[in-house]
This record gives sequence, C-alpha cells and structure tokens, in this order.
Amino acid sequence: GSTVDVDPGVEIDEENAEDDLLGGLMVDSTEDIEVPDRLVDQVIGQDEARDIIIKAAKQRRHVMMIGSPGTGKSMLAKAMSQLLPQEDLQDVLVYHNPDDGNAPKVRTVPAGKGEQIIDAHKEEARKRNQMRSILMWIIIAIVIGYALLTVNILLGILAAGIIWLIFRYTSRGTDAMVPNMIVDNGDQRQAPFEDATGAHAGALLGDVRHDPFQSGGMETPSHDRVEPGSIHKSNKGVLFVDEINTLDVRTQQKLMTAIQEGEFSITGQSERSSGAMVQTEPVPCDFVMIAAGNLDAMENMHPALRNRVKGYGYEVYMEDTIESTPEMRRKYARFVAQEVERDGRLPHFEREAVEELILEAKRRSGRKNHLTLHFRSLGGLVRVAGDIARAEDRDLTTRDDVLQAKQRSRSIEQQLADDYIERRKDYELQVTNDGVEGRVNGLAVMGEDSGIMLPVMAEIAPAQGGGQVIATGKLQEMAEESVQNVSAIIKKFSDVDLSEKDIHIQFVQAGQQGVDGDSASITVATAVISALEDIPVDQSVAMTGSLSVRGDVLPVGGVTHKIEAAAKAGCSKVIIPKANEQDVMIEDEYEEMVEIIPCANISEVLDVALMGEPKKDSLVDRLKAITESAFDQSQST
Ligand code: ADP
Repeated sequence: GSTVDVDPGVEIDEENAEDDLLGGLMVDSTEDIEVPDRLVDQVIGQDEARDIIIKAAKQRRHVMMIGSPGTGKSMLAKAMSQLLPQEDLQDVLVYHNPDDGNAPKVRTVPAGKGEQIIDAHKEEARKRNQMRSILMWIIIAIVIGYALLTVNILLGILAAGIIWLIFRYTSRGTDAMVPNMIVDNGDQRQAPFEDATGAHAGALLGDVRHDPFQSGGMETPSHDRVEPGSIHKSNKGVLFVDEINTLDVRTQQKLMTAIQEGEFSITGQSERSSGAMVQTEPVPCDFVMIAAGNLDAMENMHPALRNRVKGYGYEVYMEDTIESTPEMRRKYARFVAQEVERDGRLPHFEREAVEELILEAKRRSGRKNHLTLHFRSLGGLVRVAGDIARAEDRDLTTRDDVLQAKQRSRSIEQQLADDYIERRKDYELQVTNDGVEGRVNGLAVMGEDSGIMLPVMAEIAPAQGGGQVIATGKLQEMAEESVQNVSAIIKKFSDVDLSEKDIHIQFVQAGQQGVDGDSASITVATAVISALEDIPVDQSVAMTGSLSVRGDVLPVGGVTHKIEAAAKAGCSKVIIPKANEQDVMIEDEYEEMVEIIPCANISEVLDVALMGEPKKDSLVDRLKAITESAFDQSQST
C-alpha cells in the first residue's frame, strides 16, 4: 500500500484535530513542516493513481491518466521516473557510415561510456590532425627550400599555398570520425523524464537538420545533424504526453510503432529538407508512456494507440475532490510548504495564511466536507500570495496576502461577472426594496467559479393559439420545463386555466455567454405565480433552486458562488434549496451582507419572496395545504 503517512515532523494536537483547519498540526508557519524528498510522497490525495504508478514502475507498464488539469498527472509521471531503476541507463551515439553517408550507424553503450568514447575519438582526431600538420609543414618546408635553391621564390610560395589549401580542405574528413552523442545519460542520477505535451513530430520522434551546403566539402556530415526525439531521450525512463489527442494521427501511429518495436530510426521530418534523405539505424526508445488527458481527449485519441497502452498497462482516473479529514488537511498544510520550497524564493506562510488557503480549498471543492484536488490553481494562489509578501520584504506570508492574492487571481469569468455587476449598478437593474409583479432575481453560474444575478420576468397574456410558453434565447427549454412543473401546482389552487394563456418569460441580460440556467426553475415558477396572481415579488430577495412537480425545491450546483453574487448585487436575502445548506462556504465579508434562507418547498419560497399580505398569506396557506397533503395524495394515487 502507498498509504504510508509521511511524518510531518511536527507534533499533532489529536484532541482538537477534528475542528482545526490544519488538522491539529502544531505549527506557527510552514517553515516547521518537513517536506518529503521523494516526489511520490509529496503527492496529495490520488491514492489510486499513486498505487498504480508505484506498481507500474515496478512492472514497467504504460499508464493512461484521465482527469482534470492540475490534479497531479505530470507530477505523478515525474515521480514514476524517480522510481525506475537508474542502473540500466544508456548513452546513444550516432556514427558516420563510410559505406553510405545517409545511413548513419547507431551504437548504444552504458551511461557515462559515451563521453569516454567521444573523448577518445576527439583525441585521436586531434592527433591525426597534428600529424597532418606536421606532415604539411614538412612538405611546405621542402618545397620552399627547393624553391630557394632554384631561385624561383614566387613559384615556391604558390606551391606552398596550394599544399596548405589541400590540407585545410581535406581536414574535415577527420571530423567525420567523431560520433555524435544524441543521448547523454552520463550525469543522470535517475531515469529520464520527458514531457512531450504539445510536441511536434520532430521533437517527439527525432529529426535530421537541414544542411544548406549539401555538397562540395563544406557540408556538415549527416550523422552530426541527427537530433533525438523525446521518445529517444526517454529511453529507460518515462515519456509523458498530456492532451494526447492533439498529436496528429500520423504521429500517433509512429508513436505506436515506437512503443511496439522499442526502437525507432531518426529521419528528417520535413520532406523537402536534405535531412529527409538521411535515415539512421534504429535508435532505442524503450520508454514507459504516461498518456494523459481529460475523458474527452481519451476518446479522441487514436484507438489503436489507446488499445496498445491500455492492453499493456493501466488506466486510472484522477479525483477532483477529497474528503476533508484532519489527516488530509495536514497534508494540505504540507502542500503549502512544498510549493514554497519548490519555488525557492517565497517567504513561508504563517498559520493563519495556511488556514485561509485550506478554507479556499474547501470552497473550491463545492462539496460538503471536501477539499479540491485542483492543486495547480491552488499553487498559483500560493505563489501570488508569497510574491506579495516578498515584494514587501516580509519574513512570512500572511492571511492578508492570501486574501489579496485571491482578489488578483480571479478567473476571467469572475472578472467579467464583477465587471458586469459594476456596470449594472449604474443602470436600472439595481436592486431595490420594492415589490414588482412577475419579476424575480434568479441566480446562475458563469464559467466554473462565478455566480451572476439573472432577473427573470414573467407576463401572462390571453393565448393567441393553444397557450404557449415563450422564452428568450437558449433558455426556452428550461422555461418550458419549469412552467410545466409549476402548472401542476397552479391547477390545484387557481382558477386560471394555463392552457388558455401565453406565458412570456424574459431572462433579463441572459445574452451573457456561459450562463447556465438549469437551476432557475423556482425562479421561473415564482415569477409565473406572481404574475398570475398579481402579487408583487420582493426585489431584495434572490433565489436559486430546482423545482419538482410535487413542489419540492431540489438541490443545485454552485450555491456558494451564487450567494456571493447576490450579496455583491446588493440583495439582502437569498433563498437556496434546503438540501444545499451544507454546501455553503461563503466568505466572512458576505456573511453579514445577506441572510441565507434554505427552503424545501415552493410554498416556503413564496412565503419569503412575495409581498403584500393578506393576498400573499392566503396564497401561501392554500399552497401549503396543497403541497403537503392533497397534492401528495393526488400524486400517489
Ligand atoms: P496535471 O499534469 O494534472 O495538469 P501537474 O502535475 O502539472 O498537473 O500539477 C501542477 C502542479 O500542482 C504540480 O507541479 C504540483 O506543484 C501541484 N500538484 C498537482 N497535483 C498535486 C497533488 N496531487 N499533490 C500535491 N501537489 C500537486
């Protein structure tokens, strides 16, 4: 098992570990936390992926890793290279082939030997050149001596010049003897790790440089122009390819051949270059491949290659969140220490700063009692916060720095949403304390991590035809569904026959890109009932929730972001589904701005949102009666 806990080197307060954000770690700052040496021990969460990496390293199997960016795929791949044996590393040399200059020879020798061979060849070449020089000067001396004797100095100098040129010109021939070391593992302390993400064919499979002087003695010998690809440099090590589907199909095919054969000749990749005429003997490429990507990427990958990797290896999914146990939170504290040490220039984090980061990891998980495993962006936050502290020459990074960093590293969507709220404040969309019939402040999520307020307006008109639901834009389907759900309820308490009415639903400013309207059905229902019964809706209330035909309020995603958006927009109350109550992790600053009201049923929603007793009270009472008893029975029979 890989569940060996790495000793943090710090005392743990077991008694209060459960409630402590740092899981009871008794530290003042991350300086006190020990960071494990091996990368595989630094990996947090992803137990299954870790186990597989350890197993695959022993068996030299390929691994396919599927999951979100920044969850540790490349980190695990690198960790694997540290686990592979280092003994059988090799150097690869390319030699001139005297029989065919375009077919260089390839020799593989144990790591470190390559340099000795090159040195020996260089030494030999140097000696040879020396001998040639001596020979040359002797001949020149003889020629000039002879010229002096015959008193024909001009001819003598000319002859000496010609001899000198001949020697110069032919000396290149001796360079051809020195091999080109394309893979040098002499100083390598661990099996190689090559990241070939986004590599073009040449970088992945090797290449032969173009030679502008193809003939006439000026050319660079072809073996000297051979360049290794990642597949060769990762020989006996790990080849990591993220977003594998972005490799073009031909390259994927060649990669597959390389995996099958364990060796792959190098040739010039661009067809019109002189390098394309050159093809080396096969060069070893006995690597373990770690192919990564999201699920989509995997499905678009060359099927044969996928089968190959899968058939000879493992497939593993990366987790996005993990349960927030004290032990796990201690690891998150260690994560901060790891990132600080990896960067090397950041001041360590004080306890409160780490707490804020762990709180942020909780918020970003979007799940009750969980922490996000999206470490790359969390690491980004660590660096931005540390940079702020460093810019001010402080010894420690503080909680304030983390809060500032969060503000700075808002996602594009968040910045858009904030900007949008700013702009809206200038116009008519400002939140008021009035009641307006048929108008409800809905809430939606934009992108992944920002909420936005999205008002909905409903208007009822006599039907032109069969009674329709007319909505703006892409939200038509959602609007129809919510009206359908609410109509079952309306039938029970209202005389209005909805089939004789057209219901117009307008999403104010829904033109925004990336707005997800799926969770707005209680908003639509409230707007429709308000319009139908002529009861105004409190405009200082915002809401989110999904509605069942029975009138239950069902849970939705992104409540935290939505609540924050409502608070920012100036609402004083937010209605959320009762089932989402545990998912709320809003920041302190918002907590005082809005009151959060969890509701389980549409009657509770209306009780909060509608204004103007006694009409409202009678409606809510009627609804309550229906949804609690009669409606239930009619549903079950
Ligand atoms: P991926 O390859 O999945 O996109 P990376 O492995 O490149 O993600 O992660 C980026 C950085 O985030 C890593 O270098 C490491 O600092 C941090 N990181 C990611 N996942 C983890 C993890 N599970 N445990 C600790 N740190 C992590």
